[in-house]
Amino acid sequence: MTESRQAVIIGSGPAGLTAAIYAARAQLSPLVIEGEPSSTSDQPGGQLMLTTEVENFPGFVNGIMGPELMQAFREQAARFGAEYTTAKVSRVDLSSRPFGLWVGDPQATDPSYVADALIVATGAKSLMLDLPNEERLLGYGVSTCATCDGFFFRERDIAVVGGGDSALEEALFLTRFADSVTIIHRRGELRASKVMQQRAFAHPKINFRWNASVIDVLGDTKVTGVLVRDNVSEEESVLELSGLFVAIGHQPNTSLFKGQLDMEDSGYLRTTDGTRTNVDGVFACGDVQDHRYRQAITAAGSGCMAAIDVERWLEDQQPLVP
Ligand code: NAP
Repeated sequence: MTESRQAVIIGSGPAGLTAAIYAARAQLSPLVIEGEPSSTSDQPGGQLMLTTEVENFPGFVNGIMGPELMQAFREQAARFGAEYTTAKVSRVDLSSRPFGLWVGDPQATDPSYVADALIVATGAKSLMLDLPNEERLLGYGVSTCATCDGFFFRERDIAVVGGGDSALEEALFLTRFADSVTIIHRRGELRASKVMQQRAFAHPKINFRWNASVIDVLGDTKVTGVLVRDNVSEEESVLELSGLFVAIGHQPNTSLFKGQLDMEDSGYLRTTDGTRTNVDGVFACGDVQDHRYRQAITAAGSGCMAAIDVERWLEDQQPLVP
């Protein structure tokens, strides 16, 4: 049977759950469709579920573990009446209001939910190398975020994989902490912009391993090195280091909305005037619409914006009292 809701939030990272806190406090009784456990996490909750210590979220003097932070967000929203369903949205129909949302069988005739207003906070995922031990050591030396984790690698030797602007930006940032940063790139030339290349080439702490692919991460409880294959000679060798930053790009979780919501060529949702999408009544926040900042705090901030935008938009939809 179809359940009718005033506000539905898809996604349960910092953006979705902050939207839930604000929407719940505005008495919109939001439903959060929080996703399902994945191969990389046994709970929904976004990318912070894959992080260990978070030291840059304001308010936590001594840092907090990512999953603990997300649990606190979740409970805080629940305290004000947000409800959760652990499910993945399989189909949306945004062509008319109320919007239709399906979980489970996408071919079912009736939607599982209809919503007057929708907040999309489905996030993005870092592309990974799919190495045998990469997932196991994620948060224990393998990282996808230099801003988040660079501080843990003071005076260490580390590597960054990738040859684009992200890889170079991460590598340059990491030189503040690490003794050396090796950029491991699968080809003999970089994809990154010339200005970033010049900066990286000029930096005394950065060196390059060209035409090389990381084929596994080594370490029992934390990273001790990587196994690298030279793509020209096909020789394999071990590079001893304490950290591996994977910076080969990100992919926003937007396949569900293709053909319905405007997006960049790269798949990020387009928002204007705060968190509005091209569909009236559908709002987007967090990493699904932000490829620049990608921080928990910026995602949370835009989640707050989306909830306020929804609240005002719903008010504007009320029929005028004669
Ligand atoms: P990107 O430009 O797509 O670069 C990805 C890099 O990772 C490429 O060098 C690619 O190698 C490599 N790569 C991809 N899959 C790989 C794999 N399986 N194994 C090894 N290497 C792999 O992604 P990005 O660097 O995240 O940048 C995305 C967009 O954001 C770009 O338009 C970029 O200019 C922009 N950006 C701008 C800034 C800035 O201006 N400050 C900062 C960050 C990002 P190949 O080169 O061989 O394909």
